[in-house]
Amino acid sequence: MKCSLCLQEKKLIKSHIIPEFCFKHLYDQGHKYHNLSTSMDENNFTRQKGIWERLLCLECDQYLSRFETYAAKIIDEDIYRRFFCSENPITLSGIDYPKFKIFQLSLLWRASISKNQFYSGIRLGPHEDKIREMILHENPGKPHEYGCHMQGIIEKSKVVREFILKPDTIRIDGYKACRFILCGCLWGFVVSSRSQFFKGCDLFLNESGHLVLPWEIAKKTNLLSGLALELSNAGKLIY
Ligand SMILES: [Zn+2]
Repeated sequence: MKCSLCLQEKKLIKSHIIPEFCFKHLYDQGHKYHNLSTSMDENNFTRQKGIWERLLCLECDQYLSRFETYAAKIIDEDIYRRFFCSENPITLSGIDYPKFKIFQLSLLWRASISKNQFYSGIRLGPHEDKIREMILHENPGKPHEYGCHMQGIIEKSKVVREFILKPDTIRIDGYKACRFILCGCLWGFVVSSRSQFFKGCDLFLNESGHLVLPWEIAKKTNLLSGLALELSNAGKLIY
């Protein structure tokens, strides 16, 4: 079968869409996590492992895992530690721009190529193949090209890491924006061929390795409070 990244005919292996390290805080003691849905047609259920599909060859999967390993380290060692300092936003520096940006791109791209219903809210259209080429050639592009605005989510002096939201697509100031919540952060990608004019470009990771990261209390986050209300209305909130 054809590998979705290198497009060569190869044996495909089981690949995660959202990397497994993002799920590690979700598992309960039985190594299961809860999948909540606001849809009346879909029941809540538990899963043993993150969602996977046969999308990539072994070489491409290993290639992407380099960026995942780096991102996991930045999230664990830099982002989580800094959230509780007095500043808001925090500014991280010294991030390897190509490595972290390629990780961000791979998250967005994998969700778009996935056939799993969980990722049906992310469809990149003509941008999908442009991002595939960027990832394949280790080209992170300019900061505004598929730039990602990250925002930390805090509750009761803890990062809200036990939560992954079904990603979706909205419009912000007329721009297409794809949203994920994972690893205690909202990740909002601006997907547009005129993204250089987007007002929030200074919040994207830049080529000098600076990342401005605001954080917010979960209850005050419109997205999360709206979701809690929808789950409650659907009778599916787990207490
Ligand atoms: Zn491949």
